[in-house]
Amino acid sequence: MLRVHFIFKKTSLKTAFFKQEFCPAGQNIRKGRPIKMPTVSYNPFENAQAQFDKVAEQLNLDAGTRALLRQPMKEYHFTIPVKMDDGTTQVFKAFRIKHNDARGPAKGGIRFHPHETADTVRALSTWMTWKCAVVDIPLGGGKGGIICDPHNLSAGEQERLCRGFIRTLFSQVGPNIDVPAPDVMTNGQHMLWMLDEYEVLAGGRYPGVITGKPVGMGGSLGRTEATGYGVIYTLEGLLKARGIAPGNTSASIQGFGNVAEYAARMYSELGGKVICVSCWNQADKKAYTFKKAAGCDIDELVGIKDSFGSIDVEKARALGYEILDGDAWLSQDVDILIPAALENQITPAVFPNISKKVKIICEAANGPTTPDCDQLIKDAGIDLIPDFLCNAGGVTCSYFEQVQCNMNYFWSREEVLDKLRFAMTKAFDDVYALSADKGLYMRDAAYQIAIKRVADAVKLRGWVS
Ligand code: NAD
Repeated sequence: MLRVHFIFKKTSLKTAFFKQEFCPAGQNIRKGRPIKMPTVSYNPFENAQAQFDKVAEQLNLDAGTRALLRQPMKEYHFTIPVKMDDGTTQVFKAFRIKHNDARGPAKGGIRFHPHETADTVRALSTWMTWKCAVVDIPLGGGKGGIICDPHNLSAGEQERLCRGFIRTLFSQVGPNIDVPAPDVMTNGQHMLWMLDEYEVLAGGRYPGVITGKPVGMGGSLGRTEATGYGVIYTLEGLLKARGIAPGNTSASIQGFGNVAEYAARMYSELGGKVICVSCWNQADKKAYTFKKAAGCDIDELVGIKDSFGSIDVEKARALGYEILDGDAWLSQDVDILIPAALENQITPAVFPNISKKVKIICEAANGPTTPDCDQLIKDAGIDLIPDFLCNAGGVTCSYFEQVQCNMNYFWSREEVLDKLRFAMTKAFDDVYALSADKGLYMRDAAYQIAIKRVADAVKLRGWVS
């Protein structure tokens, strides 16, 4: 049942295709320009490899290091048979992919998704390697996924699926090997079932084998807010470097889930004005932007959103919010754009809609900007804080959770957040200094730091000469 790929074969890459459509009449004019709405399919692993190749060239890496780092070291593709509540057996396909563990045990989430692919997991495991390296935590990159839709599974079926995942991978996860965490459509309960299965098999208590556990069951205080706060710690660093007071700035945010909410909260605490947030509406099957020119009240919006990060349209209207199209967040006259929802949102096709006032893009989501848009952003003189630095607060706090679990001694929320602020600020300052020193786009500077750290590690270990 377990198929282990030690040598990666690039067999399933699909060529990216590109087509453009235009919005229906009446929706397509903003600032006097027609808005092209792109439907672009980007292969995430091809993106990850293209980004790596570019920086490998800049760093002049040798051929052996390039060959090693542009693909995952190990891939597990396996099936999990699950006894369903109706007595039948359903077989689920799963992946766990370790991109690189030269700097420490692999770290990365497990996603439940009906459209999960090996290439998505490959890309995400690669980005985890760079993310851990750029914030200088002693971990490598991994990611997992199970092709399933948890909406259609009972709690019991989900529990058996989680236990089956760990049973199959038992020898390949562990506090010193590979440490999973929650990701898309997985949560603390899934992590506890996985932890319990691992501990039954191991015959002991190993809380550091998995992170994202509920507080009181090995989870860390501060984890909920860590990613969103981390985004703003990096933004604070940039504003300071540019001599801009946060209180004189305004922002527009895509998304109002976990990351966006806590980023909005901390940014507002610093005195910044959130002009609008956008989110998905499941009933209408479309996104909306909620705008208040005088500034959104984040507590008020949190009070009318559901657990999926969707704001109630009628309640928002009653509170005086303008309800705009889902893509309106991108074209606001603000200083800062914070995409905190989805990948591939800022593309060359929509780039002209970004206001000339925008000075900063904080990539709170994973992969919100397509690689072909980087040059446009750079040429426009917009500072971009790249995703794998900007949203690294989550994995940094997961690392703290693992450390606390391994010690069996837990820190206060203040201690966790102090350590988080220190780590994120230091990582941002290092990236900013290199970018200023060498005139580099910040994404390239961050990649150079991260890739060099991993390249040094594989060399020091003697994996490449
Ligand atoms: P979430 O599920 O809590 O929230 C997602 C938000 O995006 C929701 O408000 C949803 O309504 C909104 N959304 C979905 N489709 C949209 C659309 N078309 N237009 C506008 N809004 C839309 O997710 P999250 O945990 O906040 O994660 C957001 C992003 O940050 C993802 O890219 C995720 O991979 C990344 N990220 C999250 C963490 C973390 O710790 N949660 C860590 C690192 C990176």
